[in-house]
Amino acid sequence: MNLSAEEEKRIFGFLQQRNYCLRCCFRFIGWHSPECFQNPFKFANSLGYIAAENTSSNDEKPCPACLGILQKPMQESVIQKIQAEVEKQNYDSETFITALTIPTCVGLRERLLHMQCSLELGLSENTLISLKTKIQTIKDIWKLVVIPKVEQAIKKKVDVTTPSAFLIEIILSYKYNEKECEVLLSKYKGTKNVVNKRKRKFNDTRFSKKSIETLMTSITDEEFTEYFKDFSLETTASADVENIMCSHSSIFVGGRYNKLSRELSQTPWFINGEKKMQTSVQDILCNPIAEAIGAQSIKFLSSGREDVDVRNIHSGRPFAVELINPRISKITEKALSDLVDKINHSSQQVQIASNLKVLSRLDLKTLKEGENVKTKFYRALCICRNIPKDTVPLEKLNDLKRVQIVQKTPVRVLHRRPLSPRIRLIYEMRARWAKPQELKTLLNTTNEDASVFFVLDIKTQAGTYVKEFVHGDFGRTKPSLCDILNADVDIVALDVTGINLNWP
Ligand SMILES: [Zn+2]
Repeated sequence: MNLSAEEEKRIFGFLQQRNYCLRCCFRFIGWHSPECFQNPFKFANSLGYIAAENTSSNDEKPCPACLGILQKPMQESVIQKIQAEVEKQNYDSETFITALTIPTCVGLRERLLHMQCSLELGLSENTLISLKTKIQTIKDIWKLVVIPKVEQAIKKKVDVTTPSAFLIEIILSYKYNEKECEVLLSKYKGTKNVVNKRKRKFNDTRFSKKSIETLMTSITDEEFTEYFKDFSLETTASADVENIMCSHSSIFVGGRYNKLSRELSQTPWFINGEKKMQTSVQDILCNPIAEAIGAQSIKFLSSGREDVDVRNIHSGRPFAVELINPRISKITEKALSDLVDKINHSSQQVQIASNLKVLSRLDLKTLKEGENVKTKFYRALCICRNIPKDTVPLEKLNDLKRVQIVQKTPVRVLHRRPLSPRIRLIYEMRARWAKPQELKTLLNTTNEDASVFFVLDIKTQAGTYVKEFVHGDFGRTKPSLCDILNADVDIVALDVTGINLNWP
């Protein structure tokens, strides 16, 4: 149902006399055209809603409906604060989105105003319903009027369709908000005798906001008017800017790394809060990336992990870094290749073995799934003691295909994850006696004879404990290399030589 022009003018006049801002006057009579909100004074004037000689736009006093949120002084103050915060934080994003939080009592005030208006002007029920359904929200009008000014001030474009990854949160508060909401809560509590569940201890405004909203839908207009019969909508205070917060959603960068040290853990290693090793694969890879992208913090993700004493050589292990709240979002190929150079020059222990690439969340799924489905290649240096070399049937291993083994959780990780035995496949093996030049560094530190070492190349299913497959782990892996060769075999060194995953 549409209101007659006469009725609209009457309601408009009623509100305007009571110091409601012109934007709220237009909101309440159900107008939707942007012009009346962008230039309310001119518009009201041309319609004859206000006299030409009236130069007041009702912006001097806080409007009892929007609590100043749609009025000029408050708009200017919000824009100024947004501009200051965005400049301080220095995000390079060319677009933004906003999230505006307004005081909960605004909803109460709006409903009360509808009731007062209806009573004092003797509006019909249909007119009241029409007013209630057609009212534009404060947030919508705020976005219409304020966002273009924010765009100008911060020199970025709003983008709600993509949407932009750069979020500006604006929290507005009102000093009497609690008190006004309390009117409803306490009256309702008094009448219905329900337990007040508000978590006052944490001052959880979202919780109280939700409880107010629920309450509002569960009580009738009559009850509502009764609760607020002593309440005056007039106010001397406007809402305030409580906080402006900027954030950017995570960016992911990935590649493959090699680890060339047998004394380096993959992630920082802490015991009782004390860093046990100076650095880690994670530190070496992620810190320069996080610094270049201006990330607040990082999360390191990788396709599996290697032990401290295990190297990663050849094609490298797939990894990704989640850059949380990054300042830089325009990442060029050049910047990425510079980062590869920087990291590779900074460390002898860790090298990036591929290019670096900006990834999507979908790519990360590949990384996680790849952990379980891929095959892995290892090279192990093994030692075969207490048995003459020529009696070890090493060549026998070359003919074995798809050997199924059962592994109980290794003793060395038992404290971490005691799981049920896992069945794994050893797809293929290649074994040969080690050449003296391969053992140069090793023989300096051991009394063993060079002839007892052999090199095993092995292709396995993901999740195989290779060390345990070699030495048998006190019979916890069956069969082990010891069983197959019928000899006392142990592992001296292990390298990951390949991880089959199309990455990055
Ligand atoms: Zn207003």
